[in-house]
Amino acid sequence: MISGVMRCPRDGSPLISPDNASKSVFSRNGISHCPTCSGLALNLEAASSEICNQKLEVIHDGFRDEGISVDICCPFCQTGMKVRDFAFRKIDGNLTELIEIDGCPNCASVWLDAGELQRLSPPSGNTDTNPSSEAGALAIVLDLLLHLPLVFV
Ligand SMILES: [Zn+2]
Ligand SMILES: [Zn+2]
Repeated sequence: MISGVMRCPRDGSPLISPDNASKSVFSRNGISHCPTCSGLALNLEAASSEICNQKLEVIHDGFRDEGISVDICCPFCQTGMKVRDFAFRKIDGNLTELIEIDGCPNCASVWLDAGELQRLSPPSGNTDTNPSSEAGALAIVLDLLLHLPLVFV
């Protein structure tokens, strides 16, 4: 059991857990988000979707032995995280743009900066800059991407 409030590894804001988030996508995949920077945290134990679970297992394997250490700590277990580049394989066989992902070599958790997902799916023309609704939109993007094969590069 994880005690205490999970905090954003970037700015220290308390993460909003799936329980308090309004979007169903959060509760489906156990995605917590930062109300300040719109970053997303995923944890294998919290993930209730089968697809998300399998992807997080693959990602976790990719961080156990490889990756470059970074100076941010896992929001779930406070272990120093590692960074790697990966991409999703699209239906046409091509890879998406590379995304930088921070992963915990200890527990199966990942952190995604909002900017990484925005590069794949730029915000549509609306002027809503509320970080929580931005995080909600990005979580939906991530939810869709997690259905595609994932490739570490
Ligand atoms: Zn943040
Ligand atoms: Zn961890």
